[in-house]
Amino acid sequence: MTVRRILSIGHPTLRVRAGEVTRHDISRPAIQELVDDLIDTMRHANGSGIAANQIGEPVRIMVMEVDDNPRYPYKPPFPLLVAINPEYEILDDRTVIINEGCLSVPLRGELERHVNVRVRYTDRQGTDHERVLRGLTAGTWQHECDHLDGVLVVDRIDPRTLSTWEEFDRYHRDSFVERITRFAAEVGS
Ligand code: ZN
Repeated sequence: MTVRRILSIGHPTLRVRAGEVTRHDISRPAIQELVDDLIDTMRHANGSGIAANQIGEPVRIMVMEVDDNPRYPYKPPFPLLVAINPEYEILDDRTVIINEGCLSVPLRGELERHVNVRVRYTDRQGTDHERVLRGLTAGTWQHECDHLDGVLVVDRIDPRTLSTWEEFDRYHRDSFVERITRFAAEVGS
């Protein structure tokens, strides 16, 4: 496993639509090593998720995990999930405003995410899965799927809410964490 360099906004690979992984390719060493590198890189950066094009590989693979995360202390715990060719279906019209950050973008800000989604993906063993995700976990899923389509948070953030992490901590963190903690407790993940 290798900690890879995370591309920053402006790098063209963050703007391409990543390609599907064929079922035959999933077992290949190059794909299995990429999955390991994604996990290592996400954990090293204290991310709650990362998509393959963020480390320069435009293929449809993402990983998610939340475990006492110092970068996102309000996110509910979520065990490691490796999703190949991830998709989602919006289950209803409920949305929530989340203040999101991204490992590829130095700013964060408020955007709207769907609260209830049904997701489908293939795991690293090649098994297909379908499950419902809610709340902040559903938001992270949508964020990572956006990456695989070449979409970044800045495309969705209300520009008037853009903030550095430092100024977010100083002026916005307390009210956001209070609101989103109540929300997370209500909807679960
Ligand atoms: Zn991101």
